[in-house]
Amino acid sequence: MSRIFGRCFCKSIRFEVDGPEKFACFCYCQSCQRAAGAPVVAWATYRKASFHVIAGSVCWRESSPGVTRGHCAACGTSISYENQARPGEIDIAVSVLDDPDGPEMRAHIWTEDKSPWMKIGDKLPVYKKNIG
Ligand SMILES: [Zn+2]
Ligand SMILES: [Zn+2]
Repeated sequence: MSRIFGRCFCKSIRFEVDGPEKFACFCYCQSCQRAAGAPVVAWATYRKASFHVIAGSVCWRESSPGVTRGHCAACGTSISYENQARPGEIDIAVSVLDDPDGPEMRAHIWTEDKSPWMKIGDKLPVYKKNIG
């Protein structure tokens, strides 16, 4: 087990979580695109109980029924995703980790929402919707 740290763009929020991640994937769903203002979001899944905010406070918002997203109210950085269908887990945006190269990416999901100019260039499994 290792401590993993991360922060938002303006540095008002700092957090830690226990690694390694349980899973990590690229999500192309429309909700992630809107929430992040980006064509894809890389997420890594951790135990929610191991997630601790060290500085600042995360602004939580129910973005769709059963889904809570966390962001920084000051700078808007998209930080986390939680789904009631996966209790006890929290997804952290890989790009806000101090070491974004750390998580091992394992899949592409919701590619039915992917823009055609966004090309997948690896051999990871591709799912039109969610896994399973
Ligand atoms: Zn911030
Ligand atoms: Zn998504």
